Amino acid sequence: KKDEVKGFFMKNAFVILTIIAVITGIILGFSLRPYKLSYREVKYFSFPGELLMRMLQMLVLPLLVSSLITGIASLDRRASGRMGVRAVIYYTTTTVIAVFIGIVMVLIIHPGKGSKDEFTKQQQIEQVSPADAFLDLIRNMFPPNLVDACTKQFKTHYAKRVIHVTVTVNDTIFLQNGSQQTAQEEMIPVPGSVNGINALGLVVFSLCFGLIIGNMREQGQPLRDFFDCLNEAIMRLVAIIMYAPVGILFLIAGKIVEMDDISAMGGQLGMYTVTVISGLLIHAIIVLPTLYFIITRKNPFLFIAGLLQALVTALGTSSSSATLPITFKCLEENNKVDKRVTRFVLPVGATINMDGTALYEALAAIFIAQVNDYDLNFGQILTISITATAASIGAAGIPQAGLVTMIIVLTSVGLPTDDISLIIAVDWFLDRLRTTTNVLGDSIGAGIVEHLSRHELRVNDLELGNQTVDQ
Ligand code: ASP
Repeated sequence: KKDEVKGFFMKNAFVILTIIAVITGIILGFSLRPYKLSYREVKYFSFPGELLMRMLQMLVLPLLVSSLITGIASLDRRASGRMGVRAVIYYTTTTVIAVFIGIVMVLIIHPGKGSKDEFTKQQQIEQVSPADAFLDLIRNMFPPNLVDACTKQFKTHYAKRVIHVTVTVNDTIFLQNGSQQTAQEEMIPVPGSVNGINALGLVVFSLCFGLIIGNMREQGQPLRDFFDCLNEAIMRLVAIIMYAPVGILFLIAGKIVEMDDISAMGGQLGMYTVTVISGLLIHAIIVLPTLYFIITRKNPFLFIAGLLQALVTALGTSSSSATLPITFKCLEENNKVDKRVTRFVLPVGATINMDGTALYEALAAIFIAQVNDYDLNFGQILTISITATAASIGAAGIPQAGLVTMIIVLTSVGLPTDDISLIIAVDWFLDRLRTTTNVLGDSIGAGIVEHLSRHELRVNDLELGNQTVDQ
């Protein structure tokens, strides 16, 4: 009996430690709040959390590139093609469902009832044409300089405008926290890029590159070995970082210490928060698990339990890109999803598939319309759903990127973009929840694609087996 208990704890050590870290973080955060720490003290206190975030971000670039290249190069063209089509159908279907849920929830609950006087607007946000934004999304897919794509944000007309917008947005956040600190340029989210990395461009390049070296037979072998080895080495680094749930503790505690007074969340903003949370919960707890069950006939909640550490990391970091290394580990080690699937579909999912962000963008845009007493017709709601889907694809997997791509959605139906300031106060919190939904969507997608592709994977196994025998 004693051995059984010990075995259980050993097997679930990470999960248990992570849960303990989250609970301790919440308790610590709330117990430090009454001391009203200064901005500098909060930064010192959250330092271990900041380190964890930096370590995870450090791994994103090599992980993203090496996993995509090896993932696709290890499959034959037919298998990767089919898998790709399945992944895209899954991403599109779930994003459309998420947008639908967001719209239905905000129309039923109608959180924007009341007067706009409840809000004080603090800054102006420049208008951006949706056409410019769409063109920039496509431009980002084809970086003219690959080295630049790995080190710099993709500078465009739109990006420059967003920089202007976000500085003011971040200003407000800092000012609300009672600090005079201004936003740093490097913290600025630009659609399609992650911490200065043009992720979308790198995904497109890696997919094409992997496809080519996969087809090059013996000639491509050295490159395949190189990226395979790089991927393996990075995953070993991830395993070390996973020993640091203490970082999560400080990320969560630090945010609780510095967050605004919760009593400010009354009235329309409170109802808005409730509406977003309900929508995300419906999508994450009902829709995605049901889809998983219908397709795979396996228990979705066991699958979700295996993802716990990734979900908590998403909650703690607000970034699906920074969570990517942990998502890989959870899927491959706890849920035993085939590496050929995770390596291929996860990096793509983390970059373009954001159910939580899509749901939130549609919901928030209609909320802003309600607050302005602006009646939307069916055509406008349809426009919002299309632009919200595009905006979620364009949003980078970094904190509050969705807030920036909201501009596209609002502009498309003529809503005032400076009203984004109305929802800033609660966005840091809702961002964490939508990021968790995004990571869950990507992971369930990997499980579903694996199930649907089991035939191709088996054929691929046989071919690999034959090759080994030939050698
Ligand atoms: N923070 C989200 C993510 O990383 C993106 C967003 O702002 O919606 O997935």
